[in-house]
Amino acid sequence: MSGEQEGEQDSAQDGARGGARRRLRGVIFDLDGVLVHTDELHFQAWSATADRLGIPFTRADNDRLRGVSRAESLDIVLSLGGAEVSETEKEVLADEKNQLYRRLLETMTPDDVSPEVRAALGTLRAMGLRLAIGSSSRNAKVILDKVGLRGLFDAVSDGENITRSKPDPEVFLRAADFLALSPGECAVVEDAHAGVDAALAGGFACFGIGAAATHPDVTWRIDGLAEVPARVAG
Ligand SMILES: [Mg+2]
Repeated sequence: MSGEQEGEQDSAQDGARGGARRRLRGVIFDLDGVLVHTDELHFQAWSATADRLGIPFTRADNDRLRGVSRAESLDIVLSLGGAEVSETEKEVLADEKNQLYRRLLETMTPDDVSPEVRAALGTLRAMGLRLAIGSSSRNAKVILDKVGLRGLFDAVSDGENITRSKPDPEVFLRAADFLALSPGECAVVEDAHAGVDAALAGGFACFGIGAAATHPDVTWRIDGLAEVPARVAG
């Protein structure tokens, strides 16, 4: 059994190397946790919502909401206070949180993108790579505009054009479509395990950064985006 698994892993790695050899033509980036970090803004918005309900809410609690949908996040926040509210009230609360979060997004500036991220994107573009965003967020375009990255991307695939969230590969498959490239011609950059699962399910090679670097099947583990251009060049 273990022999079979090892065999599969070997062929997956060979496949990734083969992908690099036939030259990648596009890179698809997850947004939050890869290019920008909106954790603190989500924390502020959920804190305000929890405060109003008299529910204590900490940064550790906020960590449990990473990569979780808004509705599921609200259920977790409510469970922290043992609060029970109707479905209608839940919709109102989730909407209020999102309104506040969107107002906080308006305060983002180009300073919210690190020089390393900006340099890596510039290098990839100079290499002739097509770049896309693959994010489940419905706020992706607002964020890209606020931090001044929108113009660096040829396409944005986000929560507005998908029906299934990661780990479903839909958001990345749409991004590749928008770039007029096949999954085999693109690499994905992800910081979440569900995102790596989505990329691999779609037939993409995948860079894992942050928490995603511990994913057992990720194609390349990286510490920062500065490593991406060299890998893509093969
Ligand atoms: Mg992410």
